[in-house]
Amino acid sequence: MSQDLVIICPACQSKNRVPLDKLESQPSCGRCKAALFQGHPVEADSAAFKRLIEHSEQPVLVDFWAPWCGPCVQMAPQLNAATGRLEPQIRVVKVDVQAHQDVGAEFGIRSIPTLALFHGGREIARTQGAMGAMEIVGFVAEAVR
Ligand code: ZN
Repeated sequence: MSQDLVIICPACQSKNRVPLDKLESQPSCGRCKAALFQGHPVEADSAAFKRLIEHSEQPVLVDFWAPWCGPCVQMAPQLNAATGRLEPQIRVVKVDVQAHQDVGAEFGIRSIPTLALFHGGREIARTQGAMGAMEIVGFVAEAVR
């Protein structure tokens, strides 16, 4: 039996079962044909965010941010660059905690930007404050080691 991973489609949130040896060959969604990895973070609302962290079998890095937060906006290109390095092993998601205040409250987000890493539906690491791309990659590498 070949090993595979459940990957949630960033476009339609379908579950896709992707063989590990196909992970690097730009897999697309079986339902909507969107690329499963697009080289930038997935912008998720509350429902998509919960589905991504609960059903993804890969670790999920979440950026809790808001449009009014200067450091968050400044970190965006750094997070994009980090996403290019982290995918497809890691899913990268952004949640706007101003638009989706229920998420910020449920996960106890007190200052932004906050980066949190989830695996198997459980939070395994968290850090606060803006970081450069390589620091972000390093934070994830340290947490999943
Ligand atoms: Zn899809």
